[in-house]
Amino acid sequence: MAVFNMLENVEDLYEIGEVLGSGHFGQVREVRERATGARWAGKFLKIRKCASSRLGMERKNVEREVEVLQALQHPNIMALKDVFESRAEVVLVLELISGGELFDFIAEKENLTESDAIDFMKQILLGVGFMHNKQIGHFDLKPENIMLSDKMAPNPDIKIIDFGLAHCLQSGEEYRCMSGTPQYISPEVINYEPLSTAVDILSGLSPFQGDTDEETLRNIIALNYKFDDHHFSMTSAMAKDFIQKLFVKDQNERMTAEECLHHPWIKPLTRKQVANRNRSSINMKTFKKFNAKRKWKMSYNMVWMCNRLHRLKLLCKTSAQAGEELRPCESDQEDTETKPASLIRRRLSNSS
Ligand code: ATP
Repeated sequence: MAVFNMLENVEDLYEIGEVLGSGHFGQVREVRERATGARWAGKFLKIRKCASSRLGMERKNVEREVEVLQALQHPNIMALKDVFESRAEVVLVLELISGGELFDFIAEKENLTESDAIDFMKQILLGVGFMHNKQIGHFDLKPENIMLSDKMAPNPDIKIIDFGLAHCLQSGEEYRCMSGTPQYISPEVINYEPLSTAVDILSGLSPFQGDTDEETLRNIIALNYKFDDHHFSMTSAMAKDFIQKLFVKDQNERMTAEECLHHPWIKPLTRKQVANRNRSSINMKTFKKFNAKRKWKMSYNMVWMCNRLHRLKLLCKTSAQAGEELRPCESDQEDTETKPASLIRRRLSNSS
């Protein structure tokens, strides 16, 4: 079992600041190192106190997230500085990423050429390629997890975050996992097949969005998508070719991150290819619409999660009153004082 810093209290070394974001198991807050004044992000994770509890994160999953982050030191991957542990929570001290989500940054623009988009894409591929070379899959790549270090910089740096589902694949191991976010998961996850790092190549993209999550999942399994003129009239043939080579059902046939970096759309070989890229642009009207829908869905999910937790707590109360064998545990008790939305991990949703 990994041992984190239990001797010192995070608050003795860091001043805890404002909330930057919330995840399923806790909050991310800005923290200031008392000794140097440097700013970091603290990810406060509630730990499950007993096996029967549904609240909090299993300690072994926190250990896995920490091990993965320790193995990944790359300019396009969020860095881990320190880990603290107390009775009820683990705190990861992380590189502070203050530029917000890449998609929000792009959605504010009036226009974006394919060349601009490729600059970002390259950085994502470099980060993803680095982890895949270490046999680590992220398994939850989606717009929310692609952030910018500083959006005011002339060429902002991409930072990949949230390694809560990441897994280091051992040779000979068959790894299956039914987690992800409906719009962004790949067919092999839905089909509960053995997974490889290729999952990350087909995730994070969402032309498969249906009216319900079930329809979205059906579209992904069938790889049901089309380049309709309405949305893709300004897209270069090279970009479409690139996308087609990602939307491949067989994991072994799908382009790897390394191969993506050598595709002529990312790395043009001729002047004509460069010119084509510069002439083509992203359809901003469609992009803004997609981003607004994504944000709306995130808020909807948050409300759905709050309601579910509320019902769960009422159920626990009623069962306990009826004398059923629902053993309360410490983290359940403590959690009643915390924000409900941060407590349940909801990966595969069933609402849209
Ligand atoms: P999820 O429930 O989506 O899996 P999680 O519990 O694993 O989330 P994260 O996704 O890592 O938590 O973080 C939650 C939010 O906190 C992010 O969406 C982001 O807005 C913010 N955040 C996370 N890490 C950082 C960071 N290093 N710097 C700034 N903000 C961050």
